[in-house]
Amino acid sequence: MTAEIIDGKAVGAEVRAQVATDVAAWVASGNRQPGLATVLVGDDPASAVYVANKRKACVEAGIADLHQHLPADSSQETVAELLLTLAADPAVSGILLQLPVPKQMRGSDLTALIPAEKDVDGLTPVSAGLLAQGATGLRPCTPSGVMELLDHYAVQIEGAGAVVVGRSDLVGKPVAQMLLQRSATVTIAHSRTRDLEAVCSRADILIAAVGVPRLLGAAHIKPGAVVIDVGINRTDAGLVGDVDFDAALELASLVTPVPGGVGPMTIAMLLKNTLIAAKLQAK
Ligand code: NAP
Repeated sequence: MTAEIIDGKAVGAEVRAQVATDVAAWVASGNRQPGLATVLVGDDPASAVYVANKRKACVEAGIADLHQHLPADSSQETVAELLLTLAADPAVSGILLQLPVPKQMRGSDLTALIPAEKDVDGLTPVSAGLLAQGATGLRPCTPSGVMELLDHYAVQIEGAGAVVVGRSDLVGKPVAQMLLQRSATVTIAHSRTRDLEAVCSRADILIAAVGVPRLLGAAHIKPGAVVIDVGINRTDAGLVGDVDFDAALELASLVTPVPGGVGPMTIAMLLKNTLIAAKLQAK
């Protein structure tokens, strides 16, 4: 079997175009323009690039760019004050605190100040609780992007055996919750899992969110499985995922490439979340 390659770039572009259409319709029917406040503390070059990409995508979708930049030596209190001001500002639909914050700050305490209805990253404890309970709320962007790809390619989730390798709050746990909510039978594997090959090779849907280059190979992939590789690893050979792509191509029915698979979905889902947030607040 040669797997079909999932085109995350194309699906991401489609989601972004749909958000732009939906934002225009939302504004045309008399609602306030959605606004995204990205908050960057300091000048970490990688973070600056991530934030610039988010701002650009936001403007392209018709969302107001309400970016805030604070110096690296800001105090925890200064950042907290800014977040509380943004939380109270009706022009701000979504708040995204770019992590990591400088060393003198406790990022998790700051993130927790973002109200759930503006938490477009979906990473606050309240948002995580809403997800765990299956209640209305904003979901983390990368896991939402994984679900969007599965739906776009009409993957049967209900009743499927899904294995998620990785249990981070950012990817593994939330994507497992989302699959469970859609009635997959979910197993979460991690660094202490015994016989990872046996666990993974039972999966109809295999999600890798580990951060170890090509950890999962032919022995981990059930023939015909759907393989979603969230991993992004910089190696001498360039960017690679957590899955041996050539092995997956031979065995799977569908596989995401790295780059060009899950990666482009994250910003697309951030834009979608910003519009959802604006609508939640208008209720
Ligand atoms: P993380 O916080 O480092 O979590 C990694 C998880 O993998 C942990 O749960 C860890 O288990 C597990 N793990 C590590 N080594 C393992 C092994 N040998 N066997 C089985 N499990 C193992 O990473 P993350 O933030 O979830 O990110 C995972 C990957 O996704 C990274 O490559 C990251 O760059 C990428 N990523 C991509 C996007 C995107 O596409 N936009 C977004 C976010 C992350 P323990 O819990 O037992 O330590």
